[in-house]
Amino acid sequence: KLHNTILELKGNIRVFCRVRPLLPDEGAGAEVISYPSSLEAHGRGIDLLQSGQKHPFSFDKVFAYDASQEDVFVEISQLVQSALDGYKVCIFAYGQTGSGKTYTMMGRPETPEQKGLIPRSLEQIFQSSQSLLAQGWKYKMQASMLEIYNETIRDLLSTNRSGPDTLRAENGVVGKQYAIKHDANGNTHVSDLTIVDVCSIKEVSSLLHQAAQSRSVGKTQMNEQSSRSHFVFTLRISGTNESGATGDRLKETQAINKSLSCLSDVIFALAKKEDHVPFRNSKLTYLLQPCLGGDSKTLMFVNISPDPASVGESLCSLRFAARVN
Ligand code: ADP
Repeated sequence: KLHNTILELKGNIRVFCRVRPLLPDEGAGAEVISYPSSLEAHGRGIDLLQSGQKHPFSFDKVFAYDASQEDVFVEISQLVQSALDGYKVCIFAYGQTGSGKTYTMMGRPETPEQKGLIPRSLEQIFQSSQSLLAQGWKYKMQASMLEIYNETIRDLLSTNRSGPDTLRAENGVVGKQYAIKHDANGNTHVSDLTIVDVCSIKEVSSLLHQAAQSRSVGKTQMNEQSSRSHFVFTLRISGTNESGATGDRLKETQAINKSLSCLSDVIFALAKKEDHVPFRNSKLTYLLQPCLGGDSKTLMFVNISPDPASVGESLCSLRFAARVN
């Protein structure tokens, strides 16, 4: 039934598929020229070959191994712009460990051409907000960064992280709740979460750096794989014009985008089915709820590894993404 509902609403969520190149230790050698025969990307389609059987999929976009970070960003910059128009914009990456999620979202920020979507989006947001200043628009930006691991939220920008016990204390003894609440305006609040006012890309970059360090410290403390944790970076943009009224320029479409809310059902269903831990992703889907419904604009990347050893997992990811799309 769920599957049929999703099919009826097909097309309302955008799904981009990105296949990363083969890495040298996967047999690519010095130059990466093509995929193994198990994968074939063409236009908006991608075919996966498993045990002689061909599985065809199609998405709103398919980025093959030779797509640059710039090629990908060009396709989302319009979406980023709509955040300045007052839309909730949510971009997330789905895929097995090592499939290129971090590369797509963050990239290698120290190398200009390898910067990912987050640094590129921030550049665009700060540049555009500067030019809108001349038209009487003022923007206030606030950043927060958290990690969800095992249904536990960790504040990645918390400054009182001093000793090895902090992580445990923070999530229990000291009593920080990190309770997720949605207000009547559809804004999400996480209690006790550090929110930092940011005025420049430099400030956000240093926070992203801090969050990455905090993540890796947490990883050692938890002695678990980071692959089961979700990183959520939120930039809240509040726009005001000279008369002080908010939202004049902000467009609102009230139409409920049902397929977006279906996404959370799908994620639930999948989480249940895949690892027998019901609602493992419930904090994540609850946190993202306003982004998965209403007048939000959501884009999902399904990241795929071309490693022949990953065919099984790639098929699972593509099937999931095809249901969402
Ligand atoms: P994930 O975050 O899904 O676990 P990563 O983003 O860390 O995966 O990617 C795994 C490896 O592949 C990293 O070494 C990354 O630099 C590399 N990689 C991923 N996507 C690309 C790409 N499009 N081009 C070049 N290298 C990539």
